[in-house]
Amino acid sequence: MQDHESLNSTAFVALISEVRRVGKEIVAPHAADVDEKSRFPGESIDALRKLKLLSAYVPEKNGGMGLNVVQVAKICEVLGHYCGSTAMIYAMHKIQVACLVHHASGSNYAKLYLDKLASEQRLIASATTEIGIGGDLRSSICAVESNGASFDLVKKAPVISYGVDADDLMVTARRHPEAAKSDQVHVLLHKEQYSLEQISDWDALGFRGTCSAGFIVTAKGNDEQILPVPFADILSQTMHPFAHITWSALWLGIAADAVNMARKFVKNEAKRNLEMPPISAIRLGEVESVLQTMRNNISVTAAEYQSMLLKNDAEAFTNFGFGIRMNNLKVTSSQLIVDIVGKAMLICGISSYRNDSAFSLCRHLRDAYGAALMVNNDRILLHNSTLLLMHKGDE
Ligand SMILES: Cc1cc2nc3c(=O)[nH]c(=O)nc-3n(C[C@H](O)[C@H](O)[C@H](O)COP(=O)(O)OP(=O)(O)OC[C@H]3O[C@@H](n4cnc5c(N)ncnc54)[C@H](O)[C@@H]3O)c2cc1C
Repeated sequence: MQDHESLNSTAFVALISEVRRVGKEIVAPHAADVDEKSRFPGESIDALRKLKLLSAYVPEKNGGMGLNVVQVAKICEVLGHYCGSTAMIYAMHKIQVACLVHHASGSNYAKLYLDKLASEQRLIASATTEIGIGGDLRSSICAVESNGASFDLVKKAPVISYGVDADDLMVTARRHPEAAKSDQVHVLLHKEQYSLEQISDWDALGFRGTCSAGFIVTAKGNDEQILPVPFADILSQTMHPFAHITWSALWLGIAADAVNMARKFVKNEAKRNLEMPPISAIRLGEVESVLQTMRNNISVTAAEYQSMLLKNDAEAFTNFGFGIRMNNLKVTSSQLIVDIVGKAMLICGISSYRNDSAFSLCRHLRDAYGAALMVNNDRILLHNSTLLLMHKGDE
């Protein structure tokens, strides 16, 4: 990924080699069991906690590492090599952390919370989608009911990944019971402030370890836990770009792992006949070039976002071109991961199709198909088509 300066700093290079060590020693050995049992990857998340990675994006003044988005995306990518579910949980947590860091760190409450997040390595889940509105993040049915000091909130969430295992939960809701469905706020809740009534299980095709069951969330909180900025701004400035970059990065990790598998397979084949390279070597060249396209696409978009954050110009995020590029990143990455894993399967053949083979790519493929549905690609493309009609175009 780009932003070579921050990626190549000595401290970050050392951190990444620690993430790789944890990936090989802890995350990868449990990945098959996590997938088979559709269980929370507790060992992996605990290992990330020990490295203090849950506060990687929290500023140093709050006890975190103060990494930037490019560096966080790199961690997501590395984790994607070992376990897609662990990487997805890490990315989803980081998206919520970024919302707090960018939009709430001015409030005393959020400042104290970030200190606590760093010292206790708390894990944050999110309930943005809601039963009755599908995947439209900019609409809520549920509403915050405040008496001026504290509030009640009930949300029917079709999916809350690792809801049971999280320490905190961030929820979108209408600002008050009479507010329009798009007049939303973003609320931070702590485990002792909400109860979860499970309404659906998570026995899914892929990302099985995310444990994304459905719940009715019933909460009581204090008004200071409502982020001081409208959710519309949080979404456009942080949640949307941060999600599309970190998701794409972890999908890149899954895809790159599939290509690594294919490379090993071709090398084994090549050793059998030193006279002539195997036909699959051509396919390897082909898939590597698609992987490079995916990697470059993420790098450019992540670097653009990082430079916008450094300029601290909130207006820049309203630019249609920026929104369109972020949407394109998600749509393209979610398609390329399927393409790349499929190409790697063609190389590894029946070995990749078996669940019990050293070259199995079954989990990679099942995870890959989730990417297009995490905020449905058709919903995103429809949104882009509207933006494109209003956008003057790039000059
Ligand atoms: C692994 C995984 C983990 C997830 N974790 C979480 C989580 O922790 N918290 C959370 O809140 N969400 C999470 N989600 C996202 C969430 O599950 C879905 O995006 C959301 O529930 C919408 O589901 P849907 O498929 O019904 O989507 P929809 O977007 O409603 O799509 C359903 C259908 O409607 C069509 N459609 C497209 N545009 C429109 C439109 N404008 N109007 C009407 N229909 C349209 C689509 O093409 C599709 O055919 C997760 C998703 C995945 C895959």
